[in-house]
Amino acid sequence: MHKLIRSPFCAAGLLCLVTSTAFGAQVLAPDTDEADLVPTGKGWGERAYPAPPRVNAAGHGAKPSSNGIFYHGGPVLLGATHAYYIWYGNWSGNSATTILSNLASSIGGSPYFAINTTYYDGSNTHVTNAVNYAGSTTDNYSQGTALSDAAVQSVVASAINSGRVPKDTNAVYFVLTSADVNETSGFCTQYCGWHTHGTIAGSDIKYSFVGNPDRCPSACEAQTTSPSGNAGADGMASIIAHELEEAVTDPDLNAWYDRRGQENADKCAWTFGTTSTASNGSQYNMVLGGSQYLIQQNWVNASGGYCALSYP
Ligand SMILES: [Zn+2]
Repeated sequence: MHKLIRSPFCAAGLLCLVTSTAFGAQVLAPDTDEADLVPTGKGWGERAYPAPPRVNAAGHGAKPSSNGIFYHGGPVLLGATHAYYIWYGNWSGNSATTILSNLASSIGGSPYFAINTTYYDGSNTHVTNAVNYAGSTTDNYSQGTALSDAAVQSVVASAINSGRVPKDTNAVYFVLTSADVNETSGFCTQYCGWHTHGTIAGSDIKYSFVGNPDRCPSACEAQTTSPSGNAGADGMASIIAHELEEAVTDPDLNAWYDRRGQENADKCAWTFGTTSTASNGSQYNMVLGGSQYLIQQNWVNASGGYCALSYP
């Protein structure tokens, strides 16, 4: 089974690390009342003083949600979410550019992304099952090969400020780094990817870091033989999906998360549901845009809450 290893620091908002031994069920710790943590965007929570209130959205009754995840009053991304890729470092000759562009073009409208429509804002407006792959650009190591969190934001700011991608507040910008690039706050040791938001050109911009897990296959790749034959790209696909659905339902880290500070995808990280065997012997669990992917499950905010690959 997949084992989710949590460091003592690993409680809610980065995608925490795992080692994989096989596919199967994962035992999740019970969602206890003992702590109120807020997301960091990196897959673990941190304590907030005072604890933020759990908010009952209009139209959803006076009782708190019993789905194991709670609304905290912040915005969600509404309408079609735009995805932008910033290919950082050296991606020449790497099929990841095709594999991951197909993912961004195809995930919207899928039964899988429909899970996010179970999330809503304070006006009871639900997330839409729509994602537009709105553009991409490249960055030739402008911040070197060892990126801090601040350097990742600089990569996004540079792409926007130079006009290589538009400034778009209904978007998630993904900084995708080649395997020779490290993220020094804990890529491969504390997380495989993360999402957050920041002020860029005067606007609240949502962005995500996803590194190439060929740098650390045992930590961030579910399998080293993958459906497309590019294990790094296939590993990134699952992490991009995870960060995208968290960024849509918790873009400013103040909307949907549980008492441990875990966002929707955190609650299902490294679980894959029912898989099929591809022609090369690898596992996949969905077909998007005609290509096979192995994507981790997401948390359904309905019927008591559960991990799934599709909704309803
Ligand atoms: Zn996460």
